[in-house]
Amino acid sequence: MALRTIRIQGDPVLTKNCRPIAEMTPKIKELAEDMLDTMYEANGVGLAGPQVGILKRIVVIDVGEGPIVMINPVILEASGEQTGDEGCLSLPGKAGTVTRPNYVKARAFDLNMEEYEIEGTELLARAICHELDHLDGHMYTEKVVGPLREVTYEEDED
Ligand code: ZN
Repeated sequence: MALRTIRIQGDPVLTKNCRPIAEMTPKIKELAEDMLDTMYEANGVGLAGPQVGILKRIVVIDVGEGPIVMINPVILEASGEQTGDEGCLSLPGKAGTVTRPNYVKARAFDLNMEEYEIEGTELLARAICHELDHLDGHMYTEKVVGPLREVTYEEDED
């Protein structure tokens, strides 16, 4: 287990586009494991490569249903709408109101570079959209309606 340093908003790495992962290597496997460890340690529900300073298209998510690793993820379908609070480990202690699709279907590769599809609603759909935005250099704060709020330590953050 190794924790990585979470980059905070203002770090230029969070504004850059990520490169696809061409093949699975021990280094990428280790990265995915470290990202999960780092996410759990920070009580987050998702973490993307740039948030640990790695400009590769990889995200990890766990909304309470077990760990998901998404390599080179792409959203195939999105529908519906949900409006709710969103936070980010790269902006600790803050939350804002963001509208996202309520349903998302995505395609990605797992740690064996096997392609799979995943469907999510509510929090999982929100987490997928939020984390994939990071891979294109976007923060949720670009989509926040109204002011950012201070949140207490116990609240969930993506
Ligand atoms: Zn985030």
